[in-house]
Amino acid sequence: MVTTPGIHHVTAIGGDPERNAAFYVGVLGLRLVKRTVNHDDTDTYHLYYGDAVGTPGTNVTFFPWTDAGRQGEFGAGQTQSTAFSIPADSVDYWADRLDAHGVGYEREERHGETVLRFADPDGIGLELVAGDGERPGEPWEAGPVPAEHQVRGFYGVTLAVAELGPTAEVLEGIGFERVEEGAAVRAADASNGDGRESDGRVRFDTGADRIGTVVDLVETDVPRGTMGVGTVHHVAFELPDESAQAEMRERLAAFGADATEVIDRTYFRAIYAREPGGVLFEFSTPDPGFAVDEDVDSLGEQLVLPAWLEDRREGIEASLPPFDYAYEPGSETASADD
Ligand code: ZN
Repeated sequence: MVTTPGIHHVTAIGGDPERNAAFYVGVLGLRLVKRTVNHDDTDTYHLYYGDAVGTPGTNVTFFPWTDAGRQGEFGAGQTQSTAFSIPADSVDYWADRLDAHGVGYEREERHGETVLRFADPDGIGLELVAGDGERPGEPWEAGPVPAEHQVRGFYGVTLAVAELGPTAEVLEGIGFERVEEGAAVRAADASNGDGRESDGRVRFDTGADRIGTVVDLVETDVPRGTMGVGTVHHVAFELPDESAQAEMRERLAAFGADATEVIDRTYFRAIYAREPGGVLFEFSTPDPGFAVDEDVDSLGEQLVLPAWLEDRREGIEASLPPFDYAYEPGSETASADD
């Protein structure tokens, strides 16, 4: 039976692209590994951040929506937080770093691990979880965070649903195992203050020897959320190839989740299905990766378009919002004082 080993990428909706990049690169120290457009909405950038080469399991990606009034609302069927893995002895480094950049956070212990919980500039819930896992890919030596402290990739995601059962069944059907039942972990979630409370979290883990193996489910009374700025668009899980995607499509249908055909996203192949709790899942391949249309040395520096959009480049560039962010090595000291 085909199962996913864990998270491939997480895609969210941000606001201003420069502010987005200043946070994910300048604060979190991820590399901008691809600057392209949303293939389904070419007036919108699609920005990919990850380790030095964009190893699957390290990529958080954004559609920056710059139109006013497109704020999302948190609710059932959404990702409550996205957690990255950091080395076990890097907690103090990250606490200091968040302080230096004016990012408020809360520190808590969960499942025996230290968690720093905060939000990005658009309100997307993030966590840094300290643990002993191995780095899967390559550190970004030219980035603002020393390699020894760098975010390694995903730890997991927390999904908020109206009732745990149907989503739990899907998770167990795609390769996750329920490992522990928590209680009242997020009962009073003051930092989000917008109804992100829950009576507890139930942990699922693929058990794979890899990062990004965890999905926590929490029940929420908040009605179905609205997708928009400050919300996660989808969570993508890795599958090895198209035959695995075909098998997964059949399995998802049995849970009442109809998946799309395989879509070529240039850097991976993807199928999409909305699970019964309302969260959009994607299942994507590790290949061909981000070096398929750029040199590794210059990933993310230029706007790249898939071949079928190249002849529209001029119009596409004209319709995109201003975005010329580039991390400059050595700029760290100045930005920390802003
Ligand atoms: Zn995706």
